[in-house]
Amino acid sequence: MEPLIRVHDLHKIYNPGENEVRALDGVSLEIQRGEFIAIVGHSGSGKSTLMNMLGCLDVPTAGSYFLDGQDVSHLSDNQLSDIRNQKIGFIFQGFNLIPNLDALGNVELPLIYRGMGRRQRRKAAAEALERVGLKKRMRHKPGELSGGQQQRVAVARAVAAQPPIILADEPTGNLDSHSTLDIMNILKGLHQSGRTVIVITHDDDIARQADRVVRIMDGHIEADYLNRENHADKERNTESEREDISHGIKKEQ
Ligand code: ADP
Ligand code: MG
Repeated sequence: MEPLIRVHDLHKIYNPGENEVRALDGVSLEIQRGEFIAIVGHSGSGKSTLMNMLGCLDVPTAGSYFLDGQDVSHLSDNQLSDIRNQKIGFIFQGFNLIPNLDALGNVELPLIYRGMGRRQRRKAAAEALERVGLKKRMRHKPGELSGGQQQRVAVARAVAAQPPIILADEPTGNLDSHSTLDIMNILKGLHQSGRTVIVITHDDDIARQADRVVRIMDGHIEADYLNRENHADKERNTESEREDISHGIKKEQ
């Protein structure tokens, strides 16, 4: 079966010419539906650049990217934005919430872009907020929420439309240890419900919680391995779930 993500010999060069930066220098990577994968590396190693490519936020200088079997390496901005709306939920280090909208309004926003009607989107947003434990905070604006709560709003926003892929760039980078645990548990739950979860981090403790780790250095992959303990747990209890996961379909969370 075609992998969900298939990247081959990807290059990204910023400022081509004398001061060029080879942020990605020949990355090849396959990610299957339902994986929980961490992309880990030091600051400046090219993680965010890779996230921008995988998330269809930017196009590579060279190389190919097939997402769900579709070549997305040469699409227009509009086409890329359609793909993002359909397939990807983003979580960023800085939460990126709109300050003058309350939690519900923030979570509803991407649903508007998807063309969902008002009543349906209000319901989907409320459910997503409830799932991250913020039922009582729906009417609060970001400034009235703690960092951990804001990131939970951002997670709700990322998942409300049930995208198959969750892409998180340093999602716990601005959080204390308690909120970090919350967010990682929510991401694990999303993975268990069948989503493909990709977490980008400089933090080995975060990376250890994923099933698979891809280490990036100076724009290329230096290691790609399974975290055996996490994997062994799954082997034991997911025989019956495997079919769902392999189809990349949402199972209720
Ligand atoms: P990471 O997320 O791992 O810290 P980045 O992908 O942000 O790494 O950056 C990789 C390299 O590309 C770094 O050397 C960075 O300075 C450079 N870089 C990132 N974005 C740009 C840009 N827009 N223009 C020029 N150089 C950039
Ligand atoms: Mg980064």
